[in-house]
Formats: sequence, structure tokens, C-alpha cells
Amino acid sequence: MTKPLSLIMFFLTRFPRVHIAASLSLAVLLGAAILLPETGSSVPSHLESMELTLPELEDSIDVADSNPETTRSWREINVRSGDTLGKLLRDNGIPATEIHALVSSDPLLKQLANLRVGDLLRLDIDERGSLQGIEHQISRVEMLRGQFDGARWHGEHVKRDYERQLSYAEAVIEDSLFLAGQQAGMTDNLIMQLANIFAWDIDFILDIRRGDHFRLLYEELLLDGEKVGDGNILMAEFWNRDRKVAAFRFETSEGRVEYLDALGNSMRREFIRTPVEFARVSSRFNPNRRHPVLNTIRAHRGVDYAAPTGTPIRAAGDGRVEFVGKKGGYGNVVIIRHGQAYSTLYAHMRNFARGIRSGSRVKQGQTIGYVGMTGLASGPHLHYEFLVNGVHRDPLTVQLPKAQGIPEGERKAFLVHVNKLRNQLALYSDTSTLAANETP
Ligand SMILES: [Zn+2]
Repeated sequence: MTKPLSLIMFFLTRFPRVHIAASLSLAVLLGAAILLPETGSSVPSHLESMELTLPELEDSIDVADSNPETTRSWREINVRSGDTLGKLLRDNGIPATEIHALVSSDPLLKQLANLRVGDLLRLDIDERGSLQGIEHQISRVEMLRGQFDGARWHGEHVKRDYERQLSYAEAVIEDSLFLAGQQAGMTDNLIMQLANIFAWDIDFILDIRRGDHFRLLYEELLLDGEKVGDGNILMAEFWNRDRKVAAFRFETSEGRVEYLDALGNSMRREFIRTPVEFARVSSRFNPNRRHPVLNTIRAHRGVDYAAPTGTPIRAAGDGRVEFVGKKGGYGNVVIIRHGQAYSTLYAHMRNFARGIRSGSRVKQGQTIGYVGMTGLASGPHLHYEFLVNGVHRDPLTVQLPKAQGIPEGERKAFLVHVNKLRNQLALYSDTSTLAANETP
């Protein structure tokens, strides 16, 4: 295929669904092709890079090829109600001693007993009726395989890789992020991913305005050419009112995956603002407050979130539990230390989450306990304090530090990565706009 033609095919197969759905004609596509710069030896670098990043089909495992020395065909068995491994093997003439050898020599192969109705089992039985191999298809991508080497059984988990294909979506918000995403053909999972990436910068309930818009590059996951799900968002841009935020997915050499802004700062903060979901602020930070129970002037050095009893309370950031137990008017309280400078306090808990004890490590967002009204409380709520170097700060307004960004040694690689993603996005976006404008 010549280069221009392969590009047209590329657009045909990978055009964003948003626009292809309506009335994209071949004429428009040809128009797009004509408007593309001359090809040949002078393909612009961003087009080259586009082609290079066409879905890289990862090696898929071909079951037949994996047993090259056997020309016997495998028996395929669909597990039905009432079937057990032992029964299925006996039904296929496998002697009891062999069944025993199979499930007792490799611990992994004990899992063969976990058959569910509808599962696929494959048996490799030789001319003498002896079992040489067994495969249990656990899911479309996962298989448990056992092979007999003449003396003993060896088990292995075989995982197939998805093929990954680049895709693009864009939308203008009329009502909500969710509806806009759906109209752009995005799955719920993908919309949630998008919301999570920007969750520290944008409140998707309060901050969103009509006309806000976004665009993103993401991966679609395929098996045998069929889409089975969404992979990761590789980059996203969001225009919220007058500001634009952009995020790029990057994997460090240590394997840590982060969404970073174009400068390499993390999109995450060290702390989440609100440690309890679906709550309303019932009392603010106030140095001169009259205490509702004691009826005296007493500084309110935190913020109260009213929430139903039992609502999970989340750790505001990664850290180590410094205190867990009863503490006077606080009732059941947890104090978490986050590095040198920060600590957070959660009071009036009904009870603590399992595993939360002094000294235990917690991750940001991990449930540490449940809303209650222990201690001096007039109703179920979370009393939450935020301390910086031992000084109480207003949890609603304190500037939250950004999480660690790009490691200094990897900044260059990151910037190259950002450039590549931007070029890819621009190519999709230009094509998309072109098509939209030329569609009657
Ligand atoms: Zn309070």
C-alpha cells in the first residue's frame, strides 16, 4: 500500500466515532487526504511518528503452537453443572493414579479443581490413553496449563496480552461530564478515568460550566480484532471555564505510573480535600466558635462533615497511623502522620477499620474508620483537623502540596513523550475538525 493510501485506511479504521457516526463521506476523507502534505520521502515527522505508533500488536499465544511436538488433537470439554475435575478425567478414561499425580505434584495445578460451569477444559491424551497435558481456560486472556514431562507435572499460568489500539474522543459539555462522554462514545469506565485524572483540579459537580470541553487519546483493548474494553488514557486536555488543564500518562523507569502536567508535576495532591464522601460541611474552621455541646467559646480547629453513621472515612494522604483510640471529647480518633510536616486527625468515629492500629501504614483514600458520634458530638459527623508543622490550618482552604512529580533524571524522556502524544492528539483533532467542518 502506498503511504497516502495507508493513511486514508488509517483514518477510515480509526476515525473517532464521534464524527464518523453521522455523515462522514468518502469524499471528505479523500479531501482530508488531499489536504495532507505531500508524502513520499518528505513525510513530516509528526506523521511518521503517528505511523510508528499504530497499534503494536503484541504476540498472542497460539494454543496449538505451544505444544509443537504433539500432533494429537486436544479434547475440548465444556464444564457442565455437576462436573468435577475427577469426574471429567475419569469419564475420559484417565486412571486414578494419573489423576492423583496431576493434582499432587505441582501446587499450582491444585487450582484445576476450581472449575466453574461454562469453563473450557482441554485434555491432551496420548495413544495409550495417558494424560500428557491439560489446559483450563479461566477467562479470555487467562489460562492454567499443566504439562507432564514423563516424570512429573508442571503448572503455569499463561496470560495473553491484549492488542492495544489508539483512539480519540472529544466532546463539549452541555449538561454533565457523564452525558458528554457518553455522547462521544466513551464507556463509563473511560469517563471515570478522565474524572479521576482531573479530580484534584476540577470539581465535576460544582466547577463544570456549559461549553467546557475536553479531548483525549486513549487505548482500546482488543482480542482477535474485537474490542473488549478500554485501556489507559494516554493524555487528556480539559477546558474548564477559562483555564485549560492537561495531563499525560507516564511510566517511570521504576514502573510507577503517574499522570503529570506538561512540566512534569503530578496531577495528584499529597492530600485529598474531603476525607468523607457525600458529606456536607456542618461547621467550619473558626477560632472563636461557641461549642454546641459545651456552650462555651472554644476554637473550632477543624471542619465538621455531617454524614450518616457508618459512612467510610478515608485517609487524606499516604502516611503512618500515629494514634488510634479514645481521646476525651474527640471520642474514637485516628491521627495520621504524613512525612515530617503534616498530620491529620479524624474524630468522633463510630469504629475503626480493620487493620488500623498504631504504626500501620495507610494509603491515600484507604478507609480508616466510620462516621459516628463518640465523644462530645451532637450528631453523627466527622471532625477533621489538618496540621502543618504542628499548627492547625483550615482543611477547606489550606494549600495542598502536589504529589511527587517526574524524577529529575527522567525529565528529558518525559518531555519527548509529551511531544509525541501532543503530535498524535493534534493529528486526530485536526482530522476531526476537518471532517466536522466539511460535513453539511
Ligand atoms: Zn468539629
